[in-house]
Amino acid sequence: MKAICTTCGVQYAESRNVPDYCRICADERQYIGLDGQKWTTLDDLRKEYKTNIQVEEPGITSLWMEPRFGIGQRAFLIETRAGNVLWDCVSLVDQATIEYVRRLGGISAICISHPHYYTTMIEWSEAFGNAQIYLHRDDAEWVMRPAPCIQFWDGELKNIAGGLRVVRCGGHFAGATVLHRPGTAAGKGSLFSGDTIQVVPDRRFVSFMWSYPNYIPLDAGTVRRIVNAVEPYEFDRIYGAFPKMTVTQDGKESVRRSAERYLRAIAGDSTTPL
Ligand SMILES: [Zn+2]
Ligand SMILES: [Zn+2]
Repeated sequence: MKAICTTCGVQYAESRNVPDYCRICADERQYIGLDGQKWTTLDDLRKEYKTNIQVEEPGITSLWMEPRFGIGQRAFLIETRAGNVLWDCVSLVDQATIEYVRRLGGISAICISHPHYYTTMIEWSEAFGNAQIYLHRDDAEWVMRPAPCIQFWDGELKNIAGGLRVVRCGGHFAGATVLHRPGTAAGKGSLFSGDTIQVVPDRRFVSFMWSYPNYIPLDAGTVRRIVNAVEPYEFDRIYGAFPKMTVTQDGKESVRRSAERYLRAIAGDSTTPL
């Protein structure tokens, strides 16, 4: 079987028995559920869950599992003239979704912000012609199902199809990344921010944490590095990791003012310059 952890949704490599525990959930940034380590399989998920598909704007579709499963994040299909990119991932890959995505042209590359969303990335790749998966090498130790379709990249920037670029921010994970989609004639550009720049319920703001479930913040220097990493890029919208968590305007300014507020809070005074 290929066990899937019910707390984070990551799929492990083929084995006779389930692992003793999920390495991603035993890490301080996650947790083992109240009832102890639990496992499922993709076949069982297909019986119990479905995929909610929502068109966010022309060329951008979000996908998430219903009812909520694992961490509860959404993934995005981003269409480009050079092929479609799946940004982040969910554990369920079902026939209805495969057919929907094929009608939009399939998937030519998969990029995932950080290990909490690695989920069943190999299944997604296999469903779409062994699409290449691009992951930052600094998080390679967190891949629980290695495969030849995974390509690790190094450094700060990876250009993907159609003008899309993945930018390493670090913070939440050493290799945590965001995806930038440059503006078109009609738009100013969008940032897909994963967990390292988290859109919060007050959608004029974002936040930055080493662990969200365990409330462990980041230090000032790391927050400044995250903000500086996205500074060269123009973006108005920020599509956060969770369903409906989208900053719809002034995204870049919202990152700046959110960082200023955060740095004031952790410094304990109101004079910390960004
Ligand atoms: Zn897990
Ligand atoms: Zn995370």
